Amino acid sequence: MCLFCRIVAGEVPAKRVYEDDRLVAFDDINPQAPMHVLVVPKAHVATLNDLDTTHDALVGEMIRRGAAIAAERGYSQRGFRTVFNCNADAGQAVFHIHLHVLGGRPLKWPPG
Ligand code: AMP
Ligand code: ZN
Repeated sequence: MCLFCRIVAGEVPAKRVYEDDRLVAFDDINPQAPMHVLVVPKAHVATLNDLDTTHDALVGEMIRRGAAIAAERGYSQRGFRTVFNCNADAGQAVFHIHLHVLGGRPLKWPPG
């Protein structure tokens, strides 16, 4: 099982901030901003390249959940960033898709 499947299964501890039957969200272990949450589907999908139409609702839920978590923390108006990294050039390190939700400081653009 991959690392995030193990977190979903409760075999690896994580600071969970949200869970439902399809998603879990937890604090990133190496936060890059005051808020750095990962929104992760419970089903294993390795990369964005592996998505098909059966995942469309799931990905929509991930993005809406990221926005909801940002809203809970008061970042809706000042802003926040959502990121999916895909494969080597983007620095994907865990091959189970996850949405990074970052906020609480000004974020530079373009990213490095
Ligand atoms: P990515 O580079 O997009 O694959 O991002 C993987 C993210 O997972 C990084 O931001 C890591 O800090 C984070 N991460 C790795 N291991 C853990 C863990 N055990 N619990 C929470 N976050 C983790
Ligand atoms: Zn997995």
